[in-house]
Order: sequence, then C-alpha cells, then structure tokens
Amino acid sequence: MDILIRGGRILDPSRDVDQIGDLWVRDGVIAELVPHGPAPTGRRGLTVIDASGQVVCPGLIDVHCHLRDPGQEEKETIATGTRAAARGGFTSVCSMANTTPPVDNRAVIEYIRRKAAGEGVIRVFPLAAVTRGMGGRELTEMADLADAGAIAFSDDGKPLLDSGVMRHALEYSRLVGRPIMVHEEDTALSAGGVMNEGPVATRLGLKGWPGVAEEVMIARDLLLAELTGGRLHIAHVTTARGVEIIRQARDRGIRFTAEATPHHLTLTDEWVAGLRPDGRSAIPYDTATKVNPPLRSEADRQALVAAIREGVLDLISTDHAPHSEVDKLCEYGAAAFGISGLETALASLLGLVHAGELSLSLLIRRLTCDPARAFGLSGGTLKPGSPADICVFDPDARWTVDPARMASKGKNTPLAGLTLRGLVTVTLCDGRIVHLHEDHQSIVSGEEVPV
Ligand SMILES: [Zn+2]
Repeated sequence: MDILIRGGRILDPSRDVDQIGDLWVRDGVIAELVPHGPAPTGRRGLTVIDASGQVVCPGLIDVHCHLRDPGQEEKETIATGTRAAARGGFTSVCSMANTTPPVDNRAVIEYIRRKAAGEGVIRVFPLAAVTRGMGGRELTEMADLADAGAIAFSDDGKPLLDSGVMRHALEYSRLVGRPIMVHEEDTALSAGGVMNEGPVATRLGLKGWPGVAEEVMIARDLLLAELTGGRLHIAHVTTARGVEIIRQARDRGIRFTAEATPHHLTLTDEWVAGLRPDGRSAIPYDTATKVNPPLRSEADRQALVAAIREGVLDLISTDHAPHSEVDKLCEYGAAAFGISGLETALASLLGLVHAGELSLSLLIRRLTCDPARAFGLSGGTLKPGSPADICVFDPDARWTVDPARMASKGKNTPLAGLTLRGLVTVTLCDGRIVHLHEDHQSIVSGEEVPV
C-alpha cells in the first residue's frame, strides 16, 4: 500500500526541511521526499492526497492530555480521546495518570496499552503516578511501571507538596531514565482560588489563584533538580515570573524541560469577564474558561509566547481536560477545572503565527520534535524510514468551533462559536489515514481510501 502526498509545503523542523514537494509513504513508513511532479496514473493500490496549498508536517505530539480512561468514561474514553487527537493532527499522546483508579500499578498500565491497541487510532503512551494512590506520600514502584511502559511520572491534578517525596522521586527518575512531570501549585496559597488573582477577579468578585502559588513550587523543584540531577519536566507554566525563574535556572545550567499550553499562550483572564479578542460579546463567568492553573494576564501570556519563541520553554502540550456537561453547567466556583483542547490546539496556536508572534516552523517544532526529544519518543520527524505519522493542515482555512462536531466527549471549550484560521484536513498514523476532515474528503483519491 502506497500513499503519495502531493504538492504540499513539507515542513520537518527535525531536519530543517521546508520546501514544496511530494512525500511517499510505503508500507506505513516514510519512504522519500521528492520534488513536486506530475501525478502518477493507473497505479494500483495507490492513494493520492492532494496537499497543494497545505502544510505537511510530522504528526503532532502531546505529552500532556487526560483521556479519563479507566474510570471516568462519561468524560472521555481512549476511543473518543484518540479520535479527538487525530482530528487535531496528533499522532502520539501521553495520557495522564489521574484516572480511576490512578495509574499506580502495572495492571492499569497494561489495561491502557491493551485498550489503546484495540480501540485507539493513534499512539498512546501512559504516564504513571509518582505516588501511590496519588496520595503524595509514598512513591510508586517506578522501575516496575517504567518496565511496563510508563513513559514518565506525574501526579498531575495534584501537586507534590512534600519536598522530601519530590527529592526522592527525582533521585529515582535518574535510575529509571524517565522524567517527573510536575503540576506546580502550593495549595496553601491557591486554596479556594477559581481564576487568576488580579484586577479581573476583583471586578468579578471571584476568589483569586495567585501566580506565586505556582512560582514558589517551580523554584523549589528547579533547586531539587539541581541537587539530584534528576529529570524534571514542568507542566503548564503560566506566569511571566515563572518564566523568569526558569530562564535563570537555564543560565545556571540546571537540566530540565518545561511546557506551556495553547490556552495559556492565546487566552487571558479577560475571557472570564466575557471579553473576547474577536470583539464578539461572550457570557461572563463562562465555566469553560475555568482551568487549573488559571488563564493569566496579557503580560503573562506575552511572556509565555516569548519563552516558547526563545526556547526558554521547550514545548507545547494541550492539557486536554474533557469534562461532562454536568461538571461545567453550574456556577463558576463549583465548576470543574479544565479545557477540552485537542481539536482546537493547532488552529488556536496558528493564530499566533497569523499575528506574527511565532513563526510557523518554530510552532511546528515545539509540537513535534521538541516533545519527542523531551520524552524520548521516536516520532516527530519525516525522516525516511520513520513510521508515517503525518499531519496535513490548511493554514488559512477558516472554520467555526462547534462543540457538537467535536470527537471528544468533552465539549468544554471557551472557543465555541469562535472562527479560527487553520484546519487539520488529514492525519496519518503508522501510514493509515486516521482522520479525513468531512469537508475535505475530495483531496484524497485512489483505488483504496482507507479511512
Ligand atoms: Zn496540571
């Protein structure tokens, strides 16, 4: 089975490739990149994807998403979550450990891997918990879990408050060669907070979650990483001060990686007040804007974008956090934290490219080879011989976010009704078409169209 992706802008930051060309896929593997030529005719078993006017890049990699399976299947399953990922152009995701039960033993890892192999449409790499029951006290059997397939360790959803436990976890991370991924929040400082502490929260009469609750923990963990030489990955950095602390740690030579999310890079706490950049009026107190850590100020957002641009932050991850309607259909204070983000990530980030805040190749780098490197994953490249994990997107196509059309069970997006520019048309994983956008079926032709 051959697939020819014709006439697209081939963008592969892993090899500094950026050219118009034709990409051949044979037997699930990237075969070769050749200059754009005429379409072959009459070849049996050939599928042709017309990518003219589109970008062809490695399948996106998300090191931070919540698939909610096992135990919270009303919010998401591996089947729906991986389909949502494919619609968003992702071909590899790392699933978070705060399931029910949490991923703190081999049986749960094996369940996720088996289920992903059976009903998933893209690659799923499970994260395991750092502590038993995510209780924050006793480390899990990290070596055993790594052996079972845990790609990294995280108690995300719950911060690791005990500094001694964090120190030991970092020491063990060296032995198992896997990162400890931390949700940075000193809950004594953030207690009761539902949105960013600042003038908007005061205006709305909502309790604030201050940036310093995150920053003190970032500082602590960087010091512990320096002490232990352990592998630290800082999840969802949200503040300018946090970026500054991270910048200083880089200057000191401390080794770690860190991420930002599409929503913190593109939205601010003004959205909670109903102020949207497209000028459309939105409902204030929209619980879809409630997320942990919260949307911050415009100055914070700009600092995060600069940090992504300069490599102070290594990569972008979605923190896709699907919830069911009842979790969000309530007053702001009572609503669950989280944004369903896999299907809007690339388009909302392309807004930064269209606004001149990031270059397209840098954005794709932060979504492909950089996360692959940080987590030791094999994807993120179009190098011949690699598995054919490919994202094809039209950077200019406009579409309106309609939660009803989302594959995710989580319809909780603050972008509902907003028109975005940039649409994923085709996603291939392992050389199979796992997503073909319903409005762009005609770009794929051939004897066999294996969707
Ligand atoms: Zn988190």
